[in-house]
Amino acid sequence: MINWLLATACLALAISTVVLLVRQRRDRPVEPDRIPSRRVDRDPAAPLERMDLGVVVLSASLGPITANAAARRLLRLPETTLPVRLESDELLSIARRALNTGEPAETEVNLWPERRRVRARAVEDGDEITIFLADVTEEVQAHQVRRQFVVNASHELKTPVAGIQALAETVNQAIDDDPDAAKRFARKLLIESERLSRLIQDLLDLSRLEDPSHFSDASVDIGAVAEKEAEGLRRLAEDQAIKLEVDVRRDVFIRGDEQQIGLLVRNLIDNAIRYTPPDGNVNVVVARDGGDAILEVEDTGAGIPLNAQSRVFERFFRVDDDRSRGSGGTGLGLSIVKHVTEMHGGHVSLRSELGEGSTFKVRLPLLNGTDR
Ligand code: ADP
Repeated sequence: MINWLLATACLALAISTVVLLVRQRRDRPVEPDRIPSRRVDRDPAAPLERMDLGVVVLSASLGPITANAAARRLLRLPETTLPVRLESDELLSIARRALNTGEPAETEVNLWPERRRVRARAVEDGDEITIFLADVTEEVQAHQVRRQFVVNASHELKTPVAGIQALAETVNQAIDDDPDAAKRFARKLLIESERLSRLIQDLLDLSRLEDPSHFSDASVDIGAVAEKEAEGLRRLAEDQAIKLEVDVRRDVFIRGDEQQIGLLVRNLIDNAIRYTPPDGNVNVVVARDGGDAILEVEDTGAGIPLNAQSRVFERFFRVDDDRSRGSGGTGLGLSIVKHVTEMHGGHVSLRSELGEGSTFKVRLPLLNGTDR
């Protein structure tokens, strides 16, 4: 009987403890920067162990108590035992600040030798400090690429704008004294303004390509696109006495964005015409090869030196600055080609010989593998 009473009392005590804990947990205000438990479970299946966010808990004397897998990886901590102190002075400093002020403290640190950039936030909780570590390496790199792109684009825009200003001033001065010279400069003014407008168009195309909401996912007849784009450039080819030939199959379908594929084809044909001297040839071929659609644009033009072949797809890269600018080049065309190709799961390659010509080959996966 006493045993039964004791067992009932124990059970009642256990239930009331659980109820109390659950109530306390439910009633506690939610603090987004806090994690529910500061004790890190080493069970590999535990949510904290599987998180990308690193979590390390320090004692009031700043010694590590526990760390999840992401934190151990980032801070190169041993799997089984924790060191007496963290190596990073910056992390210790924010931990100390959080402990002294009771306010969260943040910093960004570079971790070597992994070359990772980590955003760290230390939160004090009574006699312990939790440091959250977010790996922001890719974010920082993307930001740097964007910033560099803006610097390059501004620099590229400055050149034609300065040219237009100088020419406009010259036309203004020459218009009364030397009308023939004024006409010549006005023609140059037109060429410069066309170059500027081309550069702005390429920049707009690039920024549109980087916005995934503009990407339509449909069946694209790549032969039809190539024919249409070649027709649009026929006049340019004729003006430069270049024979433009098109040999396309009309049953080559890919999945993707027709406008972007049009942009890709247009850039390749446009380059082939601009970098081929008069009486040369430009051939556009659309074919199939196994499960791939093939687009080839071949010219008998200037060719590209071997040492520049791997760089021509970089933004703003030009083999011969003067020749490219003279032909209205922006240095962006092939980077657009590469971007569109890769967004469609394909690959672009180049075969070229100086003085002989170039062939750009784009390989894209066929819609439904081999058929329409
Ligand atoms: P651009 O607007 O200057 O033509 P692109 O990105 O289209 O810029 O091309 C990069 C560079 O590659 C060009 O400046 C040019 O030097 C070279 N190039 C591109 N296509 C050809 C080609 N078909 N024949 C020879 N050189 C080419």
